[in-house]
Amino acid sequence: MSAPADDDPFIWNVAGLLGDTVGADRHYDVADASVDLPDELTLAEPIAGHVRLTHTNRGILARANLRTALAMECVRCLRPTTVPLDLAIEDEFLPSLDIATGKPVAADDEPEIPRLNDHHELDLEPSVRDAISLAEPIAPLDRPDCPGLCPTCGLPLDEGTHDHPTDDIDPRLEALRGFRPEGKD
Ligand SMILES: [Zn+2]
Ligand SMILES: [Zn+2]
Repeated sequence: MSAPADDDPFIWNVAGLLGDTVGADRHYDVADASVDLPDELTLAEPIAGHVRLTHTNRGILARANLRTALAMECVRCLRPTTVPLDLAIEDEFLPSLDIATGKPVAADDEPEIPRLNDHHELDLEPSVRDAISLAEPIAPLDRPDCPGLCPTCGLPLDEGTHDHPTDDIDPRLEALRGFRPEGKD
């Protein structure tokens, strides 16, 4: 079986598999792959893993276990952080052409089901893109106990010391000093 072209790491021609018995499958390793993502998402590591395509009685079942990572920013301290992702994809693709007759298959009843293209190619890239978007954490942390930023100096609390002398106090807090009951006059 031929490896997918480097520029299309998630496209496989499944004409041969469709001609095989139901239940037959093909295995593909994916390495050093990437997909087009929305602007706000950036991969920190290439996509790698394993794809298994199985001939079903309706089409091709694609199951993939992939690993990659997103380049993100910690919501507490704003430092860059790498968020590893484990993606499990399971999508059934239906033919758009009958493999025996070459005639188009009516797709109107199930428009939401992914289709093979007219060359009997399965394009898993949209599924991979969706899986990455769904796996994006809403509030990424660079470490689970990230203490965030110092309210006085604005630097990360886990870098350096934050035993600030009162002279360094933020001018915005200066007004509050007068309210201290123990303050000297
Ligand atoms: Zn952080
Ligand atoms: Zn500080």
